[in-house]
This record gives sequence, C-alpha cells and structure tokens, in this order.
Amino acid sequence: MPELPDVEAYREVFQTCAVGRVVRRVDVRDAGVLHGVSARRLREALERRKFTGLERHGKWLLARTGGGHTLMLHFGMTGRLVCDHPDAAAEPHDRVLFTVGRDRQLRFRDQRKLQGLWLADDAGVARLLDRQGPDAMAVDREEFEAALTARRGSLKSALIDQSVLAGLGNLLADEILWRAGLRPTGRAGDLTEADRRRLHTEMRRTLRSSVTAGCVPPRDSWLTGHRDDPDPHCPRCGTFLRRTRLAGRTTVWCPRCQPGDA
Ligand SMILES: [Zn+2]
Repeated sequence: MPELPDVEAYREVFQTCAVGRVVRRVDVRDAGVLHGVSARRLREALERRKFTGLERHGKWLLARTGGGHTLMLHFGMTGRLVCDHPDAAAEPHDRVLFTVGRDRQLRFRDQRKLQGLWLADDAGVARLLDRQGPDAMAVDREEFEAALTARRGSLKSALIDQSVLAGLGNLLADEILWRAGLRPTGRAGDLTEADRRRLHTEMRRTLRSSVTAGCVPPRDSWLTGHRDDPDPHCPRCGTFLRRTRLAGRTTVWCPRCQPGDA
C-alpha cells in the first residue's frame, strides 16, 4: 500500500515525465477512477495545458495546471504512476493516460481502484484536504506532540490515522514504533516527554531513509525486512516477533524491544 515515501517516488515520476510539458491528450480508459469529474470535463480542463508544479500532502499528490485547476491523485491500496512511451502497449490496469510533449505518457495504474483522481479548484483542494492532519515529513516536534496527545486509543491507530498525521501507513507505523521501542498497543496519552521526543526523531529518520529508497525498504536490519518471514525474528535482539490485528491492520512488534502490558 502506498505510503508517504511511495507517493514521493510517484511525485518524482510525474515531475520527470510530465511537468512543464503540454498535455496533448488525456485518455480515460476507466472512468471508475474519476471522482466528481467526467472524462470529458477532465480532457477539457487538461488538454493543451501544462502541469506547472507538484505538491504532496500525506498520501495525496497535487498537480497544478496552467488553467487554475489542480489534479489530485490518491493511490489507495494499489495505485501508482508510470512513465512510458505513448506507443508502448497499455497494461490492463492503466486507467488514465496523459500524453505529454512528443514522446511521453504518464499513466495512472491501479488494480483495485479504491481512490483515484479528482479535479479541483483552490476551494475544492482545501475541502478535500480539510480533514488531513499535518504532513508527517513537515511536522515539527511541538505540532507532532500536540497531535498525538489529543488522540485517544492505541499508538498504532494514532499514527496511521490521516487526520492526526498525514502520510504514515501500516509499514511505517510498525517500523517507527519498533525503532522507538514503543508497543503499538500503548496509549498515546501515556507517553512520557522522552518517549514522544524519541518517536518524533525515529519517525523523521525512518521517513528520510524511506523517501531516499522510494518505499519502506525491506532491509535486513529493519523490522519491515522481517515482518513477512514465515518465522519472523527481531533483527535487533533475535526474539520471535509478535503479530496481531490492530486498527484493522496486521501489526508486528518485538515483545522484548517494545516492552509493555498488552
Ligand atoms: Zn527485539
């Protein structure tokens, strides 16, 4: 599932492929990924115009256009962006194709279509982002602590709640909590100041490495590198890793490195 680092990687694909070039053609192969905009309206708004710049907030990618519209992309569970030659055969899950300049085509590819594309003016952008918390890459420590402290429930559910903090998903939340030595079932309200500080530091470190990698990398020294092992052990202490369902997601942690009651 795309998390903040994956969306950063798609931003890079979009930037290299399409920003600053004229959109020659928009080909909607499956209108099921469009929200609040028809294929015709999307074509009219984008064709013969340029994508002028990109922004990201949490898991949202925003592409500004010369016409004053913003194309908003959310990748859901399986979405991604691919840059290819317009003559290359489209894949079955290529839902929208943007032919840009002479020789490039940006493709929104998504198998499960849980989210998709929106076209918004400034008010529409604000409305769609209204319930998003601060971006996990941009949030400073005070803002981070305020967001967490206001939240009831488990640490894990707080970290993946986009209205608390935007950008973290299942892999990042587990990785960050493991590095910070905090149990996912712990309560955000029970953290000490030192805990919150450590959590913020580890979040920033984990995000930096993951953005560089373009994903949450399944490295041998990372929890993420072991969570799907048939017989998973903690890469730090060798203890058998625990798995449970929390906030509806498979949650993995080390009972030794992440002490607690539950
Ligand atoms: Zn451990």
